[in-house]
Amino acid sequence: MTEQKRKRVVILGGGFGGVYTALYLEKLLRKHDDFEILLINKENYFVFQPMLAEVVSGSVGILDTVSPIRRMLPRTDLHVREVESIDIKNSTITTTPGFRPHSHVIHYDHLVLALGNVTDFRGLRGLPEHAIPFKNLGDALYLRNHLIHVLEEAAVEQDSPELRRQLLTFVVAGGGFSGVEVVAELNDFVRGVIKNYPQLDPTDVRVVLLHAQARILPELDEKLALYAQKILARRGVEIRLNTKLAAATGDEAILADGTRISTKSLISTVASSPNPLIDALDLPKERGRLKADSSLLVMGTDNVWALGDCALVPMTDGGICPPTAQFAIRQASTAAHNIVSTFRGGERKSFQFKELGKLAVLGHRSAVAQVFGVNVSGFLAWFLWRTIYLMKLPGWGRRLKVAASWTFDLFLPAELVQLKLGDSMGVSHEHFEPGQEVFHQGDLGDRIYIIARGQAEVARQESGREIVLAKLGAGEYFGEMALLNQTTRNATVRCVEALDLLSIHKREFSVLAANLPSMRDSFEQVMKQRRIATASVLAEAAH
Ligand SMILES: Cc1cc2nc3c(=O)[nH]c(=O)nc-3n(C[C@H](O)[C@H](O)[C@H](O)COP(=O)(O)OP(=O)(O)OC[C@H]3O[C@@H](n4cnc5c(N)ncnc54)[C@H](O)[C@@H]3O)c2cc1C
Repeated sequence: MTEQKRKRVVILGGGFGGVYTALYLEKLLRKHDDFEILLINKENYFVFQPMLAEVVSGSVGILDTVSPIRRMLPRTDLHVREVESIDIKNSTITTTPGFRPHSHVIHYDHLVLALGNVTDFRGLRGLPEHAIPFKNLGDALYLRNHLIHVLEEAAVEQDSPELRRQLLTFVVAGGGFSGVEVVAELNDFVRGVIKNYPQLDPTDVRVVLLHAQARILPELDEKLALYAQKILARRGVEIRLNTKLAAATGDEAILADGTRISTKSLISTVASSPNPLIDALDLPKERGRLKADSSLLVMGTDNVWALGDCALVPMTDGGICPPTAQFAIRQASTAAHNIVSTFRGGERKSFQFKELGKLAVLGHRSAVAQVFGVNVSGFLAWFLWRTIYLMKLPGWGRRLKVAASWTFDLFLPAELVQLKLGDSMGVSHEHFEPGQEVFHQGDLGDRIYIIARGQAEVARQESGREIVLAKLGAGEYFGEMALLNQTTRNATVRCVEALDLLSIHKREFSVLAANLPSMRDSFEQVMKQRRIATASVLAEAAH
């Protein structure tokens, strides 16, 4: 068959929905050559998310939860690019530029949308700046490194018990499956490795799970959820039910009832939003998910298919499919069959699947499971969890590696290596709540701050009393004096109205100041004016 006559099926997303659709399409393609498959994904690997929490504790290796898509899909053309836009009217996809600064436009005959959803903390005060998400491999790796980092810091901070306790407090928001699995693995890991830090007191470790409802794991039978609660509590996890996270700063998790938990580690598994690409499509949606019919075709279209977390797919009992891998894989089989039926001629299938079960691991060789309607808990559920997920991992090589990791994990201590993957924190966003100090008089100057939103006051301790020197608002900056003069902070800056700051590390600031003389001059001018204003405020206060 000539190139022109071959249909092109373009799949967007290389998660459970996208990769399994391509796998089933490859099987249907077999000896035929009547269509080609092109898959576009940001990464060149597929992530087995159910095992992601185990990366945190190190019971599976970082790369054991991912598989290279090229090996999984030898007959699929893979484009490792970010999708920039989708044009349904002209049946084209545009991807972002790579090394060459031009975008790539790809035509499709059939389009499969499997873009999942995204973590989105927007609108939640301080969470975009300070909460750690947990969705992909990068998040799991970041969290693992962060946990080791705070333990190392706590071991050094001998003269501040308060800071040490803050560093040893870990808060996880969200008591659904991923929140529970993350808190269980985190708790096991931190309590397990703390014996390697003789300077630290294990009783200082505090692990808190916040959940907005009356019990965790609302998807499971109440008995199992209560069992999970009991097991976690016994292992030292403080579970706060009916508790919502309201805001966060770099120093605290702030609860809706006003309680503040002092921590440097806030992990949130709650805020997921539709993928912005799906959001931008002019196609029927409900709660941000694309409305598909039982054949997985997006309503009102004849060549656009949707599945997985970004789709709203009806079940035979009248409900809608939950956003889980279990459903995405089965939907992929139906979608592949129906796509091929449309151009080879044949009956379309309706999606039919009854959930097999639900499982959640609780660490320490225990889990809870509801399989074929039967409740199982403890060691047996844990064994079931490991067996089922091991068999679901793609490829025997990967299965053997994970089985070996799990076996060694039974005898060997947890891995404690912190991977320093380059410091990308030169410019970052920070959020502060009223009353909180951005820095204190006498601190070392390590950053300069630009106010994006809110108000701050600059105050100095003089002869035993505090004098407010200035109030600063959006568009103004502070913290330059200690950096330019290489001294300690000569005043305290405190948040007056919720502050969103852009903070620039002194390393980046020094490079800019050294290479942009006009910028340095303008900073010095402002510094001079501020010195005069300060002298006048202090003189007035002295009278
Ligand atoms: C920590 C965690 C644990 C979980 N555990 C379980 C479990 O035990 N059992 C279960 O059944 N389900 C579980 N789930 C849910 C399950 O992982 C999801 O339901 C499933 O991944 C949905 O598949 P998907 O293909 O729709 O989306 P995803 O798997 O999220 O895949 C979407 C893909 O699209 C790509 N993408 C997004 N935007 C773009 C773009 N602009 N350009 C290019 N590529 C893009 C992403 O990189 C990603 O590869 C878990 C989820 C998480 C986060």
